[in-house]
Amino acid sequence: MKFTSTRNDKVSFSAQQAIAKGLADDGGLFVPTTFPSVSTDEFLGLDYEKMVGLILSKYLPDFENLDEMIHSAYKNALPVSLSVLTENLAVLELFHGKSAAFKDVALQLLPYLLTTSLKKIGEKRQAIILTATSGDTGSAAMSGFSNVDQTQVIVFYPEVGISDIQRLQMTTQAAKNVHAVAVEGNFDDAQRAVKSIFQDHAFTDQFAENQIFSSANSINFGRLLPQIVYYFWTYSELVSADKIKSGDLVNFSVPTGNFGDILAGYYAKKMGLPVGKLICATNKNSVLYDVLTTGTYDRNRDFYITNSPSMDILVSSNFERLIYHLAGAKVTQATQEQLVKEGKYQLSAEVFEQLQKDFLTEKCDDDETIEEIKAVSTDRNYVMDPHTAIAYAAARKADLDGFTVVLATASPYKFAKTVEDAIEQKLPEDKMPDALKCLDKKPVTQLYHVTKDQIRTIIKEIL
Ligand SMILES: *Cc1c(COP(=O)(O)O)cnc(C)c1O
Repeated sequence: MKFTSTRNDKVSFSAQQAIAKGLADDGGLFVPTTFPSVSTDEFLGLDYEKMVGLILSKYLPDFENLDEMIHSAYKNALPVSLSVLTENLAVLELFHGKSAAFKDVALQLLPYLLTTSLKKIGEKRQAIILTATSGDTGSAAMSGFSNVDQTQVIVFYPEVGISDIQRLQMTTQAAKNVHAVAVEGNFDDAQRAVKSIFQDHAFTDQFAENQIFSSANSINFGRLLPQIVYYFWTYSELVSADKIKSGDLVNFSVPTGNFGDILAGYYAKKMGLPVGKLICATNKNSVLYDVLTTGTYDRNRDFYITNSPSMDILVSSNFERLIYHLAGAKVTQATQEQLVKEGKYQLSAEVFEQLQKDFLTEKCDDDETIEEIKAVSTDRNYVMDPHTAIAYAAARKADLDGFTVVLATASPYKFAKTVEDAIEQKLPEDKMPDALKCLDKKPVTQLYHVTKDQIRTIIKEIL
């Protein structure tokens, strides 16, 4: 299994190199050069851990202890559960893990994949895991990497926009090897600053004797791998429950920000899973809606702080991977250069046409999000968080034939204020996820606060 860079396909890396490094030296993302195929015979009927083992072994054939790692990662908090709501719609709840958002699916496992990758490439230095977060990756990365040997995590989160609970989940983390830094600016500012550090060798060389830099963002292929699994598992569960027949196409509606979650669905399709349409559900920051309906990606626009803050993103990093798979490295390199220079690029008619085959898109503003939470609570007695509500609304508007699965990416308790306003009642306290209990009683230990120009200074200070 070989990996290359989205911006230069002449280079070749192993999976362990890709996971250890996070981002290629040319600024591109690591992508697999081929997709392993999985047949229905192989995957139907497997339980979750076995499914993870099957999918990951295809990409990481020489990871000997995969089953043990998977068991350690998920035994106490399997994030995933499927809830069938109607004859042709189910909600895939991905928020039952350690931090109550879907990021846990990958980040409970990534520490094992990363430390094994470091060993396999003979890397003895400490991995400094730089992570920009729009709210949920931060706490999932901090809890996933708490006290993990040979790692240190520094999370950058936007000072404004994230929910109080998201903030507390990060600022009350106690482990010595995890740090959270508030940045003045939005997620895009933080993500751009973090990505620029990987290419700033004058900066990283200062630490090169004892430390290397990596990432826990979905720019790291190790984040995407565990996310491919739940598409297969969901399909298998639907066959077992007699909701679909083996071979039927299933659609997935995904609340999208950095395009990682939905890209994992595209990868599942590439590996042979019978996927119909992937519905890219966006909020008012609708760059992806626009590129999928017009072919032009344009981040020159106002940035909105919405009630679905984990999707408040104008530069969706993983869209670069999709362009690579559709059009190759040359085109990808050109688009990303244009994105830096002009803030926008135009896809060719051919690439745009290809996009339409696999992807549909819908968008939802704050008011519609509230309406959707309210309507589904009343009609189906099912309470969703705002991000999930956007995907639910998208599935409803798309009104596709066949079975559709809505990905539920956060617990409603994580965005309690928005949800309670929408349903006009309190969420029952006894059902609150353990991860979110007593957060306001824990001591706040993480107090760093910087402007985006001080990110390098604070990294130096922390290290
Ligand atoms: C991160 C996140 C998303 C967006 O996922 P991407 O992989 O960035 O597209 C959606 N909802 C929630 C709750 C999230 O935390």
